[in-house]
Amino acid sequence: MIRNKNKKKMDFIGLLFPKRCPVCHETVEDVGELVCDICRTRLPYVQQPSCRKCGKPLLSEEREYCGDCTRKRHYFKQGKAPFFYDELMRISIARFKYGGRREYAAFYAEEILRRCAKEMLFWKGDVLIPIPLHPSRKKVRGFNQAELLAKEISKRTGIPVDRTLLKRTRKTHVQKDLDDQERLTNLKNAFSVRKGNIPYKNVILIDDIYTTGSTIDEAARVLRENAVQTVYFLSICVGRGC
Ligand SMILES: [Zn+2]
Ligand SMILES: [Zn+2]
Repeated sequence: MIRNKNKKKMDFIGLLFPKRCPVCHETVEDVGELVCDICRTRLPYVQQPSCRKCGKPLLSEEREYCGDCTRKRHYFKQGKAPFFYDELMRISIARFKYGGRREYAAFYAEEILRRCAKEMLFWKGDVLIPIPLHPSRKKVRGFNQAELLAKEISKRTGIPVDRTLLKRTRKTHVQKDLDDQERLTNLKNAFSVRKGNIPYKNVILIDDIYTTGSTIDEAARVLRENAVQTVYFLSICVGRGC
């Protein structure tokens, strides 16, 4: 009965504030749904096999790790995302970040939980830490997309969010225009950690996209230098593996 009442309330709220679909960007017709039925079939879910470290899709069944994770030692232990970063997701995330579609955070969080819940149980994260934006960038955008995402994941799991532990101390260039080596130099000392005792053993970093992993790695490095034992990550998308 209570469930029914809640459903009715949700329907009513849904009618007042119709949700936009993160795939076609039109109003979702089914009240209470976050994505159109037909659009769900177009989503680029990561299929198996995928890299055991970073979750990128792999081309060959014989491989356990992607080329990047084979070559590099990462500071994080493991990470996962529901989608790979194709044109559809590029547009979806661009609208989320720059087009005022903050509501997409709820959809992304639900998909992350649908696809990554098993790993999350295993990780036993004490806290969710969104990758911070530099204050000047946050001021321009008005919000940090990773923070919105972390909040939505927290609502559904009860894992708390800590928005002040990790700080962006240096304004960095946009990573996508740089090569691997430039990315590392660009991020050097980009993050710092709040002074005082850190009360967490296992941390889950939250970001929108994982490509080369240099941002997640640099954040994980700083956290581990400050006595965090294990760092994991969750993101909406991962780049293609090989
Ligand atoms: Zn749609
Ligand atoms: Zn990998």
